[in-house]
Amino acid sequence: MINKIQKILMSVEGLIILALVAVLASTTTSYTRSKIESDKIKENLESEIEVKEKEIISAKDEIEFLNEELDFEKERVDDLEDSFRKVTNTVDDLEKLSKTDKELLQKYSKVSFLNEHYIPSDLRDIDDKYVYGDSDMEIHRSVDKFLDDLLEEADDDDLDLLIKSAFRSFGTQAVLKNNYLVTYGSGANTFSADQGYSEHQLGTTVDFTTSTTGTLTTAFENTEEFEWLQDNAYKYGFVLSYPKGNVYYQYEPWHWRFVGKDLARKLHRNNDSFYDLDQREIDEYLLEIFD
Ligand SMILES: [Zn+2]
Repeated sequence: MINKIQKILMSVEGLIILALVAVLASTTTSYTRSKIESDKIKENLESEIEVKEKEIISAKDEIEFLNEELDFEKERVDDLEDSFRKVTNTVDDLEKLSKTDKELLQKYSKVSFLNEHYIPSDLRDIDDKYVYGDSDMEIHRSVDKFLDDLLEEADDDDLDLLIKSAFRSFGTQAVLKNNYLVTYGSGANTFSADQGYSEHQLGTTVDFTTSTTGTLTTAFENTEEFEWLQDNAYKYGFVLSYPKGNVYYQYEPWHWRFVGKDLARKLHRNNDSFYDLDQREIDEYLLEIFD
């Protein structure tokens, strides 16, 4: 009997074990299956991420490329604007130059004179208080403000600087020269004529004096007014046309010509004289003569 019970028990135990084994096996199988599935999902996700990452990188590359293109286009537009500005400036300069009287910076030598029909574009009376004697004096309208500044500054410095002569027409000069010829004979050619005359006909040149000096003589060089002119006239665009020792004309300490501030400054700085410069070099200053 006991044996029977034992057998039954054994077979129940066996069944339980069998059942447990079956459950275990099934669990393991399902675990393995789901592990494979999750690995696959993970793998898929990873490769998807990889694809997206590649897409992002290539999008970034594209953006970078587009930015470069944009920069390049911007530069091109800037360049075009620059060129346009340059062309516009050149056109403006050319227009300004075409309206600037070329004679204003011409050198008049013993063989090169200003045309007898030449008259300045516009003249203006010089303030009487700066004129020596009681005749009317005229100056080129564009030079007028430079001369005024110069005279006012000299006045402020308590100087007695006056204008003895300014614009002279060809007719006036012819009369003047004739008078000199009558008085001094052919020697008049050396001091009344030619270059100096052309410069006065331009309307940009003045002869200075003082109330005590009066007539134009080299004694003017001993005045403090002359000394002041030597130190300051260039600031207003005026230079001494015929300095001491020049080979072009007789020494005329009173005779000052307007050549523009830039050129006058350059001549002063280099201790050069207008007539020693090359005409081509002088012409570069024509554009800005009244600036
Ligand atoms: Zn003169």
